[in-house]
Amino acid sequence: MKNLIKDSVRSIVPYSPNKNSYKIRLDANENPFNMLAEMHDEIVGVIGEMEMNRYPDTDSFCLRQDLAKYVGLKQENIICGNGSDEIIQVIIQTFVDKGDFVVTHVPTFSMYNIFTKIAGGEMIEVPSEEDFTVDVEKIIDTANQSKAKVIFLCNPNNPTGTTMSSKDILEVLQRTESMVVVDEAYYEFFGETMVSYVNDWDRLIVLRTLSKAFGLADIRLGYGVAGEDTIEILNRVRPPYNLSTFSQAMGSLALRNVDRVENYIQSIKAERIYMLNALQEEKEIIAFPSEGNFVLVKSDKLKEIADSCYEKEIGTRIFRNDSMLQNCMRISIGTRSENDCMIETIRKVVG
Ligand SMILES: *Cc1c(COP(=O)(O)O)cnc(C)c1O
Repeated sequence: MKNLIKDSVRSIVPYSPNKNSYKIRLDANENPFNMLAEMHDEIVGVIGEMEMNRYPDTDSFCLRQDLAKYVGLKQENIICGNGSDEIIQVIIQTFVDKGDFVVTHVPTFSMYNIFTKIAGGEMIEVPSEEDFTVDVEKIIDTANQSKAKVIFLCNPNNPTGTTMSSKDILEVLQRTESMVVVDEAYYEFFGETMVSYVNDWDRLIVLRTLSKAFGLADIRLGYGVAGEDTIEILNRVRPPYNLSTFSQAMGSLALRNVDRVENYIQSIKAERIYMLNALQEEKEIIAFPSEGNFVLVKSDKLKEIADSCYEKEIGTRIFRNDSMLQNCMRISIGTRSENDCMIETIRKVVG
């Protein structure tokens, strides 16, 4: 079998989330709040009416209308995916051939690289500054020199929490000829977006997800926002029936209860300030400012901190294979008691 694997797949290191079951889960940027617990009866009612013997609506029509309303555009501007991961893959399959270049900043979300490699493309990673500010000029130069098909900008960036301004992103659009994908998975914790520019730039695609602020990681629902023509092209590549009726229905239900989501966001943003203030008081640790639902922490004592977390059954994300994230740990924002537990654990090591 091994001799049959295509070259581009041989060297792939798969995405590896934590598999341990931790008591406190601050490893995957999930939302600590669970909509199901609050809307149990309504959800059970919706499921009871589903015809699971039938294929789902392949175009997720109702859901796209709800999403369009949420982003302030038309349903023709929306494509839905089985997680925004699927849309990342669809974009790469649409634009990247063997030998084509893709540009991104590092450190960032690893799926851009993985899907690019699988497609036979080449990822050029532009290192960010020491404080993780994205090097916009270098990205523009690199994209132009390599005639990059796609540029991925993660804003706010996972795992650093850093952001780019709309001005910088427009600059990338103006001064390159590449597709510019802005991954706004953490938009709701930040508040700035590029969606209002998609009708001016057919090379712009904005990615969003219900996995983070909406607390619906399990329904696997992400979406892309772009100009109508761009959406039409992406739909040629998107697999049919890619979203179950269940996911579509849960997504619509959530979007009709955005006030609930607004509460989650307010709470998480307040907790982010609480966490950052507490960690920035400690001497032997750097806690980077973040606009996501997570904070990145760097410390010479990271090994000891990680060991204590393990003992206390707190899951966090540690980047063992990333040279730019040496001694770094990403901590998702949880509930006050979870955050206190995390802060306490760090204090015992560095305090
Ligand atoms: C979590 C995350 C995603 C993936 O979201 P899904 O919709 O769950 O696939 C995409 N991009 C970034 C930057 C993320 O952090």
